[in-house]
Amino acid sequence: MKNALLLTSFCFLAFVQQGAMAETTGQSPIAIVIHGGAGTINRANMSEEREQQYRAKLEQAIKAGHALLAQGASSLDATIAAIQVMEESELFNAGKGAVYTYEGAHELDASIMWGKNRQAGAVAGVKTIKSPIALARAVMEKSDHVMLSGRGAETFAESLGFEKVPNTYFDSDARFEQLQKAKETLKLDKTAQSDPLLLDYKFGTVGAVALDKNGNLAAATSTGGMTAKRWGRIGDSPVIGAGTFADNQSCAVSATGHGEYFIRYNVAADICARVAYQKVTAAQAADEVIHNVLKPVGGTGGVIVMDNKGNISQPFNTQGMYRASIDTQGKLSVGIYGEE
Ligand code: ASP
Repeated sequence: MKNALLLTSFCFLAFVQQGAMAETTGQSPIAIVIHGGAGTINRANMSEEREQQYRAKLEQAIKAGHALLAQGASSLDATIAAIQVMEESELFNAGKGAVYTYEGAHELDASIMWGKNRQAGAVAGVKTIKSPIALARAVMEKSDHVMLSGRGAETFAESLGFEKVPNTYFDSDARFEQLQKAKETLKLDKTAQSDPLLLDYKFGTVGAVALDKNGNLAAATSTGGMTAKRWGRIGDSPVIGAGTFADNQSCAVSATGHGEYFIRYNVAADICARVAYQKVTAAQAADEVIHNVLKPVGGTGGVIVMDNKGNISQPFNTQGMYRASIDTQGKLSVGIYGEE
């Protein structure tokens, strides 16, 4: 009798312990946040129809990422899925619908970082890769390098059998018109290139940050860069630490805005460093960098940020930023303008 009792309590303890383990392994809350670019986005220059198109596409993208997280997929898979919905849409400056260079072509940049172990991959200046974010992930997982550029990146993609498209695949009428306007402005004012407001930039880069059920953060960003860019210009989006950063110890960030500033102020890494060293919240760190570091020096744009508990913030110092999130409670929100 005594032995039977002992055995029962042993089994009970083993059961409880197993249950407890199940709770700490694979039971982190899940959450995801995306952006579709920041800039001079306001109600006055947006038709109702266009606004609905943006809201619907943002919702589709965030749901695609969240559905994967809910099935137990990694935050890498979720960020890629969300970004690919936007890369395939002409509404955003990434993949199809990417902005034009001064010469009238498209050069795409993308990067991804895994918070679990700080692995990262990036591509810059690629011209024929349908999904630059997928190639960035391949650089991370299938090469010994972090960043590949131009022709070399394309050759690497070919060696893996990546889907290639002609550069004209990325064409869109709206972006072409934007290029003509930008060139006009540049003709009149040679300094316009360094002032995104003069060129009326709506940045339109896309990004995603997610936390998966194993507690791993990931951040990813994909872009066509800036309208009328020249000479092989590369922005912040493929630069780890500037446009993209993730570390489970602190936070994960994807940025959008005037890349030259985001590179010089090392924006994504700076936000996470503040979380790690100053013990401020990710939201406080992001607000500080966007409003008190970047804005005073003329650095326009915004970020999406998530900490390792799944807390989300989306500060920007422009009129608007396309954004959407599904938080740890499963609450969906979609925003465009400043006051939402
Ligand atoms: N940050 C991007 C770049 O400078 C532009 C953007 O966010 O739309 O290339």
